[in-house]
Amino acid sequence: MIVDETRIEKALADAEPPREAGLAKLLAKAREKKGLELEEAAALLFVGASDSEKLFSAAAAVKKEIYGSRLVLFAPLYLSSYCVNDCAYCGFHASNPAPRKKLSLGEIAAQTRVLEAMGHKRLLLEAGEHAENPVDYVVDAIKTIYSTRGPRGESIRRINVNVAATTKENYVRLKEVGIGTYQLFQETYCREAYEKLHRGPKADYERQITALDRAVEAGIDDVGIGALFGLHDWRFEVLALIAHAQYLERKHGVGPHTISVPRFQPAQTVCFNSSPVSDNEFLRAIAVLRLSVPYTGMILSTREAPALRHKAFEIGISQASAASVTEPGGYGKAGASATQFEVSDHRSLDEVVLAVCKQGFLPSFCTACYRSGRTGCDFMELAKTGAIQDLCTPNAALTFKEYLLDHASLETRKEGETLLEKTAGNVGCAATKQELASRLKRLEKGERDLFF
Ligand code: SAM
Ligand code: SF4
Repeated sequence: MIVDETRIEKALADAEPPREAGLAKLLAKAREKKGLELEEAAALLFVGASDSEKLFSAAAAVKKEIYGSRLVLFAPLYLSSYCVNDCAYCGFHASNPAPRKKLSLGEIAAQTRVLEAMGHKRLLLEAGEHAENPVDYVVDAIKTIYSTRGPRGESIRRINVNVAATTKENYVRLKEVGIGTYQLFQETYCREAYEKLHRGPKADYERQITALDRAVEAGIDDVGIGALFGLHDWRFEVLALIAHAQYLERKHGVGPHTISVPRFQPAQTVCFNSSPVSDNEFLRAIAVLRLSVPYTGMILSTREAPALRHKAFEIGISQASAASVTEPGGYGKAGASATQFEVSDHRSLDEVVLAVCKQGFLPSFCTACYRSGRTGCDFMELAKTGAIQDLCTPNAALTFKEYLLDHASLETRKEGETLLEKTAGNVGCAATKQELASRLKRLEKGERDLFF
């Protein structure tokens, strides 16, 4: 069984808000960065709002020890709003009579150029499930994006994919064309709620929950899980995500590369009884995930407002989208109209980069591990021995320098250069410091795409 709902229900029913000593013990164990059992995580989920700062500071410490001060940035690229499914929460649901849009390959290249011009290097492809969007179309889209060049020869260097659950054969096709992470969200792990909220092929809970196994069997090393917060009890979803991560690790020898934490947002023609998750609950969910699955990346989108994102970056999030538009063809267009859902962070990439710098985080557009074959188990091994720090921080610095040289506003460049200087002075051993300094100089002289 992938996720044992009965065990999760029991863990939640038995859990009590930990007292002072119990909480200290649990947080001390979490600080060892070996993860937590479901029952331990369940107790942390009942920490009251008054004790949440203790939870947040433990999560922040773990985040800092594993990820340093990096924050990876990316953008979603919506290919098509055609969808046969009638998911109760989504603006693309089949019974929404709004006109649909599927990007041609020419339009995909044009959207890619807009994203490249902003400074993005990493994309997440999104599409509904429909005969209009078969795997061949996604494959052609990926080839088009990788081969599209901006005016200075810049390109998208990693494409992650978030499309409907499919067959092993189709996952092989995605692998062959060089996808990074394949992400698929279970939406809700509660089978009963899942079956009520979905109509169409996606209503098959088993097809959805077993999809990542097929993806791994097809050779995709990096897979990402997620739950849409707001569909069901948030504590249940957190434990289910932990259980799913533990299952993938047991079954395939490596856990998920990422956990996404989308939270329900209003969408056109969507009207259903959601289970609202408050900001404090949502942040507690993020903190407990960070402590329970310490080496898995965590992704937050522009569904969330800047202030919440700021706090979430501190306590667990390692990757964030920026300047997103959730409508096919929406980049570079004035005003979005046919979106999948509303976003709450409307800042430009440059504004996000500046705010991230001011917060003391190093914006990263790095794609080095994936392009050097450090994926799946190899990546996790490096991450667990801390070796990734010597690679990731210098690589983040190199990609950030490219951003500052090619895309940043004057204010961001000034703030960013100060941060880079500080980072370069503190990074790794003496040899790494020297090599990084020399590569930063080479970027200034016009070379690009240097990585460790
Ligand atoms: N159609 C594919 C699927 O359903 O797996 C691709 C992903 S869809 C474009 C991306 C994700 O958006 C969904 O998995 C869902 O979690 C999320 N989503 C859908 N409607 C949403 C809403 N109203 N608010 C926030 N997130 C939403
Ligand atoms: Fe279609 Fe995905 Fe939206 Fe469901 S969540 S309606 S499958 S695009």
